Amino acid sequence: MEEKAASDNPQKTFTCQLCSLTSPFTYYGQKPPNTRAIVLLEECFITKDPFSPDREKFLVLGSICSLCGTYVCVGSDCSLFYTKRFCMQCVNKHLDQFPHQIQVELAKKKQSAKAAVS
Ligand SMILES: [Zn+2]
Ligand SMILES: [Zn+2]
Repeated sequence: MEEKAASDNPQKTFTCQLCSLTSPFTYYGQKPPNTRAIVLLEECFITKDPFSPDREKFLVLGSICSLCGTYVCVGSDCSLFYTKRFCMQCVNKHLDQFPHQIQVELAKKKQSAKAAVS
């Protein structure tokens, strides 16, 4: 373990294990501090919105895949929230277990991604 001084440092870092997005976060959980009556649907990594003077504003950086425990950002390329957080690897693995509408949306996204490349 690190010495105690290091653990007092409030600067913690979240890293998405799929796209390597890295950002410091201030809180992990379902109830961001300094907010009134906000309870998130899932435990997430949260940081204060650096562009807003409103201290109740915050950004959700990412969360943890409920199936495999991978740290994923909330970007639509990395994870999907459907009752729980799923990383895209698990979504693709278990796609047949998601509702048809989600399968259609993902298929559309894949198509548009291909179109953007070509
Ligand atoms: Zn990501
Ligand atoms: Zn996963």
